[in-house]
Amino acid sequence: MALTYHSTRGHAPVLAFDDVLLAGLARDGGLYLPQQWPRFTPADLRSLAGLSYAELAVRVMAPLLDKTIREDDFAALVHDAYAGFDHLAVAPLSQLGSNEWLLELFHGPTLAFKDYALQLLGRLFDHVLKARGQRVTIVGATSGDTGSAAIEACRDREAIDIIILHPHGRTSDVQRRQMTTVAAANVHNIALEGTFDDCQDMVKSMFADQAFRDQLQLSAVNSINWARILGQTVYYMAAGLALGAPDREIAFAVPTGNFGNVYAAFAAKRMGLPISQLVVGSNANDILTRFFECGEMSIGQVVATLSPSMDIQISSNFERYLFDIYGENAAEVTGRMGALRQSGQFSVDQGRMAEIRALFDGFRLDDQGTSETIRRVFSETGILLDPHSAIGVAAGRARRRRTDIPMVALATAHAAKFPDAVAAATGQRPPLPPRLADLFQRQERYDVLPNDLEAVKAYVRRAARGRS
Ligand SMILES: *Cc1c(COP(=O)(O)O)cnc(C)c1O
Repeated sequence: MALTYHSTRGHAPVLAFDDVLLAGLARDGGLYLPQQWPRFTPADLRSLAGLSYAELAVRVMAPLLDKTIREDDFAALVHDAYAGFDHLAVAPLSQLGSNEWLLELFHGPTLAFKDYALQLLGRLFDHVLKARGQRVTIVGATSGDTGSAAIEACRDREAIDIIILHPHGRTSDVQRRQMTTVAAANVHNIALEGTFDDCQDMVKSMFADQAFRDQLQLSAVNSINWARILGQTVYYMAAGLALGAPDREIAFAVPTGNFGNVYAAFAAKRMGLPISQLVVGSNANDILTRFFECGEMSIGQVVATLSPSMDIQISSNFERYLFDIYGENAAEVTGRMGALRQSGQFSVDQGRMAEIRALFDGFRLDDQGTSETIRRVFSETGILLDPHSAIGVAAGRARRRRTDIPMVALATAHAAKFPDAVAAATGQRPPLPPRLADLFQRQERYDVLPNDLEAVKAYVRRAARGRS
């Protein structure tokens, strides 16, 4: 029986992996999930111990691709995706304290964990598109933080043009330069004379224009794409195996925004990894922590914090977990997502909350607590944490249930991505790693455009056509 994917809303076509990859969001507004989850038995997991990261990645993900991509082609894509990481272990563990670990996910080209899935996603897109004789135009908006990971994922891919909008003059120099110094003919940066919200509105308007969308084959690589979740399950497996799975349980603490990263942990558990606890860390934007406390999801105002990649209003990937919790009942999910859109909230009954709380804990940390954690961990270990990673570490420490089970906090960004916050907390300014040491000597390339939809559309048309 072929492995197929269905939508959390129940009204979109059932698709195979390669179509799910290109579709991103399902046509009914839902998110795709496997209809049959592969399961690794304890014996299967034991047979994975000691593999290289890329070998492990192939073995973990292959059952979910189910031959939609030839296995030797897939292995080549995976090896290529992780060859550019600057640590031989790709996702190494370092020890913070007694049975307490840090999973370092900042060894990719843009120094944040999104590289782990996106480096693979760009290659998968390109491979599937080329096989079909198709191409796409990726457009996206960034406040500065995540645009570079998408650009690095798509650079030099023959079947892809990528155009990223950032608010002119409102990103940090490092953030802008990570995007604008990429010397690839298929990469285009727009510095929009406006705010991040203007950039986002611009992208939404382009997607809403059906003719424009079809003409340019507009596409996105955002965090609801199933392949991103899949790419992130691998490092949970790697950490679990390194720390004794399947013969030992393991706990993770995950600094969370869209719930994508921590959902990948849940997916690894569904596939057989013995995870006993998942701690969800949030900053002052604590919609998830409030949910775990009271069983009610309710949208608040977004406030700016030291951990901008977690400044979110809605955790879109939570819908995937809701689908699991409601026994894959799409009507229950659709009702709740409708309520969230209409009234800004939904709730989950007590019985299901008990099931959720058996695995999950929430924890919130404000900016002062974040600085305090960066300072404390530096004085204890000499390790510099970025603000997101600090929230993970603090969450794991605060909510840890059992000291005999390894607690692994995810370090989702390199400290050098957020040097001001780290310097303010510790007095140490983290240097950029060697791969980016000459960032400020590199040539920048971007175009300043007015906050005008027609001007942006004309630019995107030219950029997309420029290579065909
Ligand atoms: C995107 C991001 C997060 C949040 O990840 P989600 O998958 O949205 O929960 C956390 N930390 C950093 C550094 C990020 O870039």
